Amino acid sequence: MTTTYQNLIGGEWKPAASGATFTSLSPANRDEVIGEFPASGPADVDDAVAAAGRAYPAWSGMPAPKRGEILFRVARLLAEHKEELSQLMTREMGKVLSEARGDVQEAIDVAYYMAGEGRRLFGQTVPSEMPDKFAMAIRRPIGVVGIITPWNFPIAIPAWKLFPALICGNTAVMKPASDTPACMVRFVELLMEGGIPAGVVNVVTGSGGEVGNAIVDHPDVRVISFTGHTDTGVEISTRAAKTLKRVSLELGGKNPIVIWEDADLDLALDSVIWSAFGTSGQRCTAASRLIVHRAVHDDFVHRLRQRVAKLVLGDGLLEETDVGPVINERAVERIAEYASIGRDEADLVIGGEPAREGALGRGSFFQPTVFTEVRPDARIAQEEIFGPVASVIPVSDWEETVRVVNGVKYGLSTSLFTNDINLAFRSIRDFESGLGYVNHGTIGAEAHLPFGGVKATGNGHREVGQAALDFFSEWKSVYIDYSGKLQRAQIDTTFVDEG
Ligand code: NAP
Repeated sequence: MTTTYQNLIGGEWKPAASGATFTSLSPANRDEVIGEFPASGPADVDDAVAAAGRAYPAWSGMPAPKRGEILFRVARLLAEHKEELSQLMTREMGKVLSEARGDVQEAIDVAYYMAGEGRRLFGQTVPSEMPDKFAMAIRRPIGVVGIITPWNFPIAIPAWKLFPALICGNTAVMKPASDTPACMVRFVELLMEGGIPAGVVNVVTGSGGEVGNAIVDHPDVRVISFTGHTDTGVEISTRAAKTLKRVSLELGGKNPIVIWEDADLDLALDSVIWSAFGTSGQRCTAASRLIVHRAVHDDFVHRLRQRVAKLVLGDGLLEETDVGPVINERAVERIAEYASIGRDEADLVIGGEPAREGALGRGSFFQPTVFTEVRPDARIAQEEIFGPVASVIPVSDWEETVRVVNGVKYGLSTSLFTNDINLAFRSIRDFESGLGYVNHGTIGAEAHLPFGGVKATGNGHREVGQAALDFFSEWKSVYIDYSGKLQRAQIDTTFVDEG
């Protein structure tokens, strides 16, 4: 029996106005149906935005510490349901169970962090240039926030966006990726159980073209927070400009790990396996370029080949699985196309084909793949493949390394393995990215520092940490004059230079 799920609008579960539905399937086994979900449209978005608008005065008027108490309850509930949410995520999205637990843990961490912000939400107080005058800047909520999320972190990314939006006093309409609606539905069920009032969080499932566009175009949505493909981000940003929305875009990556000649190769290999093939390479921070000093290239590639050959593909729920499926058959086709381009551009070390043997044939699997002698300007070294494919690019000196690291349109995460402290600091200065690691792969961001990228990876905003509060609140500067007379700033004051 297939379970049918509904949209969450104004605290009620509702089907799409049209009654249409779509199906979510498990990528590890296409015979396993996760559920039927509303194939919603603009009418459902209108309904959800209206509900979020009705809930806004009471939620934004609630003292922030009280909003924080509700988020503390939500954090505890997510922690209690961590295993159940992780299992659901592995079934619906495919990542191996230990990684799914990490995804849910990120949501828990952000919930706790933002709950604590309920008692801070720090503003600024400054001395006024006039006597008997008080000057401060406070944070104000903005209104209804539209949240559009991808499938690769189906609980962490909605949490990154939603919890800072809520603690700042906004209400939200969320659209999950069509490949992972069940994760979001279960996530918001727990939010409701935790005491988030009706209408504060609404969920509308359906396609990007129908639901996503309707959220972006809606005149009563003041903010869009989007994570996904760079092309989608450009389209959203262009559309949202018509209604002057504030837009945060977290987009693609082509992240390098540099392995210098003095690197600890064992450590570097462990990190490469995790960064390149974890989540089957489907992370915005995945390492898809391995920039290796010529002096250690042959040794590194030989050992990498041995390590990759041992990776076990399979259902992420099984203990022995190292690498789960990719998200769907379209992804298998796209990755296979890049593998074929790679064969023309470089030397294939291992992999390069869809994996169809035995039980793998029921799902969407691709062999972990490594190319070497990849030119920095090759398509496989430039374009985001979003699958388990890594390109080794040999380099000979530091200037060349910096040129290669920065020679892509993206700038999310960079990593350097070296024991040379001078190079370590130079990498932080010279590599163009929003996240920089030394002797650590490209993955490992924590909930209390800003997350995001430069160049085509985004539009300058950051997720989580204090930076997220800046995105989800308006600054209001406030002056209170208690002198009892007219005091004109910049005019009725004497500056030291003027005597
Ligand atoms: P995507 O195709 O851009 O989809 C992301 C979300 O946008 C989905 O909910 C999608 O809905 C929706 N959407 C699609 N077209 C839309 C439109 N015209 N208007 C409004 N919404 C629209 O990306 P994805 O394949 O899910 O995710 C992979 C990408 O995300 C990769 O490029 C990856 O690097 C990036 N990513 C970036 C970060 C970061 O923080 N920088 C983190 C994770 C992922 P449907 O599912 O219904 O199509």
